[in-house]
Amino acid sequence: MDMHNYFTNNELTESGTAKRLGIKNEPTKEQWTNLFAIRDNILNPLREKFGKPIRITSGFRTPELNKAVGGKQTSQHTKGEAVDIKGKNRQENEIIFNIIKQLGCYDQLLNEHDYSWIHVSYVDKKNNRKQILTIK
Ligand SMILES: [Zn+2]
Repeated sequence: MDMHNYFTNNELTESGTAKRLGIKNEPTKEQWTNLFAIRDNILNPLREKFGKPIRITSGFRTPELNKAVGGKQTSQHTKGEAVDIKGKNRQENEIIFNIIKQLGCYDQLLNEHDYSWIHVSYVDKKNNRKQILTIK
């Protein structure tokens, strides 16, 4: 399947916190491979179906950045396997959540604080856990 790419490498890695704290938030080759996998298998098909802009509020995080934003030590963000995304409001975030659910190839799909944002991770087609959680 040849799909348009909607997301730049910068969108997958940029972080206001990293900039502010002078943290170099640069993925390794392996982490880029993971980022491209979530982009191609979730973000692009999602964006195509949704038909409207989706903002990545947090993508890749080095362990240092992850610590700075208060992420769990085991966070999939540090492997390039997870992204936090948003539409323009909660209603859009709920639609985004449901589209990912329908796509069906996620590892973890989190409704964060009543659709304030959506966290989604991707491992690979065989090992995705298809776990849905609501974070209050
Ligand atoms: Zn997240």
